[in-house]
Amino acid sequence: MAWAEKLATGWRGRYRDQHGIKQKVTQPDGSLFPRKRDAIEAAEEEAVKARRTAAVKQGKLPASVKWGDWWDAIAEDRKFEESDTASTERYIVDKWVRPKWGETPLNKITHDDVQEWVDDKEDGLGVRNGMSPRYARRVYAVLSVSMSTAVNKKVLDASPCVGIKLPKIPKKPKPYVQLEHAEKLNLREDYQDAVDFGLETGLRPGELCGLHDHRLDLENGWMEVVEAFVHRRRVIRPIPKDEDARMVPLSSKAIEIARRRLAGRDLTAGCGLPHTDGEDCKHALVFLTLRRRVMHPDAVGQCLRRAAEKAGVPRENAHMYALRRGFGTRAGRGGMDAFLLADLMGHADVRVTRGYVQMSEQARGQALAALGEQVPLKVVGQRGAAARGKRGADLDRSPLESDGEESAENTG
Ligand SMILES: [Zn+2]
Repeated sequence: MAWAEKLATGWRGRYRDQHGIKQKVTQPDGSLFPRKRDAIEAAEEEAVKARRTAAVKQGKLPASVKWGDWWDAIAEDRKFEESDTASTERYIVDKWVRPKWGETPLNKITHDDVQEWVDDKEDGLGVRNGMSPRYARRVYAVLSVSMSTAVNKKVLDASPCVGIKLPKIPKKPKPYVQLEHAEKLNLREDYQDAVDFGLETGLRPGELCGLHDHRLDLENGWMEVVEAFVHRRRVIRPIPKDEDARMVPLSSKAIEIARRRLAGRDLTAGCGLPHTDGEDCKHALVFLTLRRRVMHPDAVGQCLRRAAEKAGVPRENAHMYALRRGFGTRAGRGGMDAFLLADLMGHADVRVTRGYVQMSEQARGQALAALGEQVPLKVVGQRGAAARGKRGADLDRSPLESDGEESAENTG
């Protein structure tokens, strides 16, 4: 089956694959083997692997195949060979999965074994050594996906991973700024106006700092959100069409703030920042610092944190992005429906918005009222913005799926 041939600089392994085609085997770095025996051994190993892969493709592998061999056979077909995901997965397999299951035949891995492995705090995935529940689930997902592949390829009749209870990921409510926080803060007037405007409109920090005066229709109470300040590059960039560009209604408080910021200013001199679309800007930014400089989201954030400490407001709420979440939370509690809120906040995906709306009493009341049920509205208790949809325990499909959260870094 396998042999070696001598070339000028060493030995090359050869074998015949299942189609009878001669294949060549070198060392992983492409160089030849210094010794004949090594070349033959490597070729034999490759021949076995090739047979196994072929057997998987033809659905001929027995259920008693060892997990490690099964993984090697299917790993080649995993789509993301050279990505970060692939190297993470290789690490997980070598460090956690292969040592535990590598030598066990697939059909000897039972549901109870898997559950025990997941729960075991000594040798399994039970939370220890700082292994987070999220990571434990990631490790488990490798085993789980290998088993569902075995079912799909008809090697196994059923996956032992069905119904496994996984470690819970604790839910942390995302901090947001409430109106009463903002009132207590006692910021410098330029920052206070920016913070209040953020709470009234839900603008992203970059959108707020990059807001131009001609985007406001103060007579009719509307604002067009079409561009943002990118502070790392100090430019104004348009928001891509059909993504987040949107119209946002202005509250009377927002209108009052805008009027105050624009009063007595020259609005035709240009904002002084390059626009990435090449526009020669002849308009003014609504929010400037007291010294008439461009307002920087980080500077507002710092100022917020200092003021929060003084006022005894939780520090984690004092972040510019928390204003946006404060707006979303307030709108959700006030009974705004998720689709309207998604429009106003520029969420391309309503799933992101749903968290603000889903669990509010008002939403429940509206939904039930629409179905013809009379629901007396209760006074709403304090609740974090954590009412995101529950995630299923089955991680097979996308083990690294994010929560669809917006990061604090997100300026877009
Ligand atoms: Zn401009």
